[in-house]
Amino acid sequence: MDFNDTPEEAAFRKEARAFLEKHLKPKGSERASRDRANMLEKAKAWQKTKAENKFAQITWPKEWGGRGGTAMQNVIWGQEESKFDAPTGPFAIGLGMCVPTVIAFGSDEHKERYVQKALMGEEIWCQLFSEPSAGSDVAGLKTRAVKDGDDWVINGQKVWTSGAHYSDYGILLVRTDPKVPKHKGLTMFIVDMKQPGVEVRPIHQASGGREFNEVYFTDVRIPDKDRLGDVGAGWKVALVTLMNERLAVGGSPGPDWAEIMEYARDHGSLSDQAFREKLADWYVAAQGYKLTKFRTQTALSRGQTPGPENSIGKIITANHLQDICNSAIEMQDHFGIINETDRMPGDAIFQQSFMWAPGLRIAGGTDEILKNIIAERVLGLPQDVRVDKDKPFDELKSG
Ligand SMILES: Cc1cc2nc3c(=O)[nH]c(=O)nc-3n(C[C@H](O)[C@H](O)[C@H](O)COP(=O)(O)OP(=O)(O)OC[C@H]3O[C@@H](n4cnc5c(N)ncnc54)[C@H](O)[C@@H]3O)c2cc1C
Repeated sequence: MDFNDTPEEAAFRKEARAFLEKHLKPKGSERASRDRANMLEKAKAWQKTKAENKFAQITWPKEWGGRGGTAMQNVIWGQEESKFDAPTGPFAIGLGMCVPTVIAFGSDEHKERYVQKALMGEEIWCQLFSEPSAGSDVAGLKTRAVKDGDDWVINGQKVWTSGAHYSDYGILLVRTDPKVPKHKGLTMFIVDMKQPGVEVRPIHQASGGREFNEVYFTDVRIPDKDRLGDVGAGWKVALVTLMNERLAVGGSPGPDWAEIMEYARDHGSLSDQAFREKLADWYVAAQGYKLTKFRTQTALSRGQTPGPENSIGKIITANHLQDICNSAIEMQDHFGIINETDRMPGDAIFQQSFMWAPGLRIAGGTDEILKNIIAERVLGLPQDVRVDKDKPFDELKSG
């Protein structure tokens, strides 16, 4: 592949950069990174500005408010936006995973009702898949939906639901038939998160944040018309969401080798042989990942869909992030244990990212699951053992 932009791509990059410079501050600029108040309002306002200027959802069709752009334009937009302090967090799951699922499986009425409002930043969505004993094996979930007239009645519990505390709607995967094998008895619904019977309990994290939740459903009624896909076909619907999730969480927000090198230079650690060896390892891994990403871009620029080899991105970046932050905190000596953004170099970016990195190694597929995918689907090694695949769910020990 030619790694340089084509004239059309260069023109789009220039237009995107000019738009970003007009509206945002560069990432890491002191004022931008300290200014964290009212994050949700800022995220909604930024989403609206993007949507009004056709920079929200680059590849979505114009009829749904997108730009109708190419996959390469989407890559370029991502590269440019990541250089700025863009408050995109609250929309990543909704616009990256949930609403595309509504577009793929919803009725015309659903699309009219939900897509535009989500795109304009007026409504936020969450993804309700994981349960206390069903994360990697999400098909083992137990939250039940029982048909009652034109409604379904939902009872059960979800966990680790990012952003549920500020979400308006969610896509909800539930068990509608326990008598068939686990993948066949699931159904997907749109759920109104503000309705009676939906209880959202924030989980308090070690970092002090509260970004994830337990969500309890007690006799929650969902009309059958808010079903996404056929009854019992929820696994197929979920796979579309999960495919988008793997693409959406591939990146790694946080400091990289260049930032720790700059920090080490300021603190005289570059003269330390052991540190220099680590730095070389991080650099080599980062270059390897960059070239792997070029392969993905080559596939996209040829109109192909990137394959399971993409799973390597999150394994490398999440582990890398954890290692870099760990080393930076060690380098800070006794200052390393302070977690006050105002008193730490770089607004405690290494401390904050150190606490986030383990979550990144779990969300959207754990390291082990991604390695299984690479082993089976890239390297062609034998499949993981799946003894419960064809048994009715209610005959399984965990069911
Ligand atoms: C930051 C964060 C955000 C999240 N946001 C959401 C969200 O918005 N919505 C949502 O639905 N969920 C969300 N989750 C949940 C996430 O999808 C699950 O935590 C994840 O899928 C792992 O499942 P688990 O926690 O049940 O771990 P388990 O599946 O119980 O895994 C425990 C350990 O066993 C290993 N393991 C399991 N099966 C295998 C296997 N077959 N082979 C080898 N090793 C295996 C795992 O890799 C892991 O190390 C989030 C999680 C995090 C950390």
